[in-house]
Amino acid sequence: MQTKLPQDFADSEVGLKADKILRSCVHCGFCLATCPTYQLLGNELDSPRGRIYLIKSALEGESFGGDSIQHLDSCLTCRACETTCPSGVQFASLLDIGRAFVEPKRPLWQKVYRSSIRKLLTSPKLFNSLSPLFRHSAIQTALIAPKTVNSRVLLLTGCVQPSLAPNINHATKNVLAQLDIDVIESPQQQCCGAIDQHLAAEGAALTKIKHNIDHWSALLDDQVDCIISTASGCGVMVKDYAQYFDKDDAYYDRAVQVASKTKDIAEYLLDKDLTELSRTSDKVSVQIPCSLQHGQQLPNVVNQVLTKVGYDISPVKDSHLCCGSAGTYSILQPKLSKQLRNNKVANLTKSNPEVIVTANIGCLMHIQKGTDTPVKHWIELLNN
Ligand code: SF4
Ligand code: SF4
Repeated sequence: MQTKLPQDFADSEVGLKADKILRSCVHCGFCLATCPTYQLLGNELDSPRGRIYLIKSALEGESFGGDSIQHLDSCLTCRACETTCPSGVQFASLLDIGRAFVEPKRPLWQKVYRSSIRKLLTSPKLFNSLSPLFRHSAIQTALIAPKTVNSRVLLLTGCVQPSLAPNINHATKNVLAQLDIDVIESPQQQCCGAIDQHLAAEGAALTKIKHNIDHWSALLDDQVDCIISTASGCGVMVKDYAQYFDKDDAYYDRAVQVASKTKDIAEYLLDKDLTELSRTSDKVSVQIPCSLQHGQQLPNVVNQVLTKVGYDISPVKDSHLCCGSAGTYSILQPKLSKQLRNNKVANLTKSNPEVIVTANIGCLMHIQKGTDTPVKHWIELLNN
């Protein structure tokens, strides 16, 4: 794609990055077929190619009104287009640039609303005071300690997960204890920065990223072997930490260290001997979050671990499509989000499962609102 970015912007770090991504798109349109919003709305401007064109126009200084903002806002950042694109277009990075560019053009009410949601979700004290109203599940078993310690890992607690579904981190600790792996937990205050980043609050996100790198890099140096994420939305953010720094930035090497040592719990368990883990014989349907299959490019790890411990996993139609949760999308775009959830639930329940499992707290909470079938994190199945 040809570009005509204003020279001062084109010469900046962000401008160079945007220009490179824009030029990598060859307009082929393959990405349209796997874009959930294009499938629902049928409008090219609600497709990856259309949004790339809109961002290009905005960066080139052409008029950019409320309709254009809505086309960007309706994007889930699911990154299905990145999985499909044969040219390797880094769509999510371009979207971050586009969203930061248009943020000042929002009406005041939108700025206040988005900022309030962001503060609520990233302030554990505030969120914990309200979370009993939304709690999904409680801790269901006693805590197990490892008999011996063969390894130690840092578990990313997450900012909303401990309040909404504390059994997820609890089950993770028990599963790891049965494998003689000790766990240090990150404090709930150490949010990964994803919510700030997705709502174009880049300064707040960078502050959190740097704070986390300072703490986690020090732990990696002498206390833990790796970092474990049980929420794929946080995991993909941490794995992308290096992209927020120039190569000559003092944080770059440590960002690479933190990112390369971070693993989703399924990715971590895949090569472990799991024969001792208990499990139920429930009939299970698996939802793979976009942040795991498209963001982290790990579409099969959950199914592989569950198959390894004895589950028979049925295929789910349109498993590549987003459930509509997508961070704060279900709050900000409720109509589209609900349509996507209804489609997802219909596909997940087709096999009449006793339980639906996922790998991300946001997807879990969202899907549960659309079905009476219990929804859990898959790691909870291994701790019965
Ligand atoms: S991130 Fe998802 S919703 Fe957004 S353009 Fe790509 S495929 Fe479509
Ligand atoms: S598939 Fe990739 S190269 Fe083709 S239009 Fe979509 S983003 Fe551009």
